Amino acid sequence: VLFLRRLLPDAGRVMIAAACRQRLPKPWVSSLNTCSRAISSSSFQDKETKQQVEQRDDLQTEISRRTQTLKSFLTSTRRSLHQIPELMYQENKTSRYIQGMLQEHDIPYSTGWGVNKNTHVFPGEGGHGIVADIGSGQPPCVLLRADIDALPIHEQPHTHNKNFASKHDGKMHACGHDGHATMLIGAALILKQMESQIKQHGTVRLMFQPAEEGGAGAKRMIEEGVLTNKPPVDVAFGMHLWPTLPSHTIASRPGALMAAGDRFTIEISGIGGHAAMPHKAIDPIVTASSIIMNLQTLVSRTISPFESAVCSISAINGGAAFNIIPEKVTLKGTIRAFQETTLLSLKEKLNRIVTNTATSHGCSVDNIIYSPDHYPPLINDTDLYRTFSSNVGALLSKERCVRQLEYPSMASEDFSFIGQHVPSTFFFLGQGSSDSFKSDYGLHHPKFTLDEDVLPLGVELHANLALRALKKLTKQ
Ligand SMILES: [Zn+2]
Ligand SMILES: [Zn+2]
Repeated sequence: VLFLRRLLPDAGRVMIAAACRQRLPKPWVSSLNTCSRAISSSSFQDKETKQQVEQRDDLQTEISRRTQTLKSFLTSTRRSLHQIPELMYQENKTSRYIQGMLQEHDIPYSTGWGVNKNTHVFPGEGGHGIVADIGSGQPPCVLLRADIDALPIHEQPHTHNKNFASKHDGKMHACGHDGHATMLIGAALILKQMESQIKQHGTVRLMFQPAEEGGAGAKRMIEEGVLTNKPPVDVAFGMHLWPTLPSHTIASRPGALMAAGDRFTIEISGIGGHAAMPHKAIDPIVTASSIIMNLQTLVSRTISPFESAVCSISAINGGAAFNIIPEKVTLKGTIRAFQETTLLSLKEKLNRIVTNTATSHGCSVDNIIYSPDHYPPLINDTDLYRTFSSNVGALLSKERCVRQLEYPSMASEDFSFIGQHVPSTFFFLGQGSSDSFKSDYGLHHPKFTLDEDVLPLGVELHANLALRALKKLTKQ
């Protein structure tokens, strides 16, 4: 535990925690229930807390009853979205599909959110984000977020998916965002049905966010006002389907949950020529190989053994024929760390290793291009998690508690930008195996699929978080 604490971005956390204390009303802190206490009513000591549990049960019964009626709707919605995957900033059909659902259920919304400011890096104009408010239109305001973009992967349909595989060649919902969008649509329907209850307390804001897969769509929507427009957001929740956890379990942790991350492209130039006369050329393929091997020392030799970091090269492109040394090679990859300062130092050292290695081979590096916006680490607000979010998760997980992850994930998530502004919790929703479902394929795999039986759990988690958080926020 001490080791992990040293990994965490304490300075940032202190700042965020201080900001949270200013914004959060006291109820978060005053009614401390640990996960283990929340799972057994007999362990509650005082009358007030027992009543809270009974109220939770009533509310949960109502949400659960409403969600059960949506089961087949959720499956068909997810399957429809699965067939029309679209890359970041190009989520036109997906957005229109979601808007159609909201219209059909009389849920007012605005679109045009998430405009692409970096068209020189990411193709597409963007603007496919959707924001819908349900409730009084007055504070307090609870934000629920789902991402809606897909990946540039050619789907190899899993047996579960074969009847509704991607119809967009080379694109696939391999990160479960079709499920995320579906679960938030489901929650929208339930919350609309329960709007009279919400109106007594405030507003729930639904954020359908484009461009999560590296495009910082969440940051664009924040810049456009999704957190600050009236009523401003007090607290936010998000979730990601997680194939390495058993279906119907929920996991998370206070503090750092996911890593800071950036992506890079390295363009190397040499001198092309005949492959049989390499001495007449300057071979960028051999240079690229050296760069890849030298980058293996980036983490192992320059980062403290007490910190966690990753550098992966994930694409090499160069050359087209067996007898031609090409002129150029392009490498792509990613760096991850738990502290932004570490991530920035990785960039600096990567630049040095790449440039010096290329020079030593007589090649030049035309460009090292990073994301316009690197992702900060995803930090769950500790007070919010311990006193509220873990209890709500415990109510719904089949294990009757939220699995507290021993380690954060090295994956990144742009929900982290939201966590920089308001107290928030991000959950992992288990969907890897159950009695009726088994998949061995992880996120971003061409055979990835999801356990659709878990979709109602996500709906219930969203709805419970929103309603209970609003009640807490108004109980001064
Ligand atoms: Zn992903
Ligand atoms: Zn994802």
